[in-house]
Amino acid sequence: MDRGAPSAEESTFRGIPGLQTHGSGRVFFGQWNAEAALPSRLSYLLRIILGMLALGSLGCGTFSPGGFPAPSDPVIEKQPVNFANRTFDPAAPPSDMPPLSEGENAECESNFTSNASVGSRTMRTDATHAIVTITQVRLTLGLNVTIWTPAGVSPHVMEHEQGHRQIAEHYYQTADKVAARVAAPYLGRKTEIAGADLNAEANKFLQQLAAEITDEYEKQLDPNPAQLLYDNITDHSRNDVVATDAVARALKETTASAALR
Ligand SMILES: [Zn+2]
Repeated sequence: MDRGAPSAEESTFRGIPGLQTHGSGRVFFGQWNAEAALPSRLSYLLRIILGMLALGSLGCGTFSPGGFPAPSDPVIEKQPVNFANRTFDPAAPPSDMPPLSEGENAECESNFTSNASVGSRTMRTDATHAIVTITQVRLTLGLNVTIWTPAGVSPHVMEHEQGHRQIAEHYYQTADKVAARVAAPYLGRKTEIAGADLNAEANKFLQQLAAEITDEYEKQLDPNPAQLLYDNITDHSRNDVVATDAVARALKETTASAALR
């Protein structure tokens, strides 16, 4: 690239199952709520792969080689909820089912996914320095919910698992607003980067930002307090509290406590 030529770079994060790491990148966070076992086990998965798309150099001012516009609102794409109801043979649970702990007989697995890409304009100021301006943040959101039950599960336990599903979907209803709130402050941000290889530095920087954004989205969305409270209210389906009542109460109480923070 010619010295002084602005360039656009976009860093894209995509997740693949099975690759686990920590700290940064595209975030895949999930939980499963297990019944008939104490304590409830929540697992957080952070699965990351970094993919990068570097776009070529371009002219001055606004541009659109990658199809992204000048600074505007974040682009949030919320995919439909992907729901599956699966039965399993307790003697031979399928390999893609989160393991049941001893005493558990059903669970609701909910995974919120987020995939951030950050677009920028980079202006070199000398051979080893450049100003990176964030021109676009794009977030793709998803929610995968799977209810796992053994064949012949009782209606009461099934209703309980559906309650976990309702809570996850309730949080997902406003997930796009959460994502937009997280992403908006990044737009227009200017940062100086330095290094012998400015393209590499710019890409690294954009990856960091994308990781920050997905981490923050996960933190702000967090449905886990409501899920835990729901299990607490229902004693993991072992008491007679009606699931829908417990969902309403769990959502109300966690929303109230979140407002106090
Ligand atoms: Zn539960």
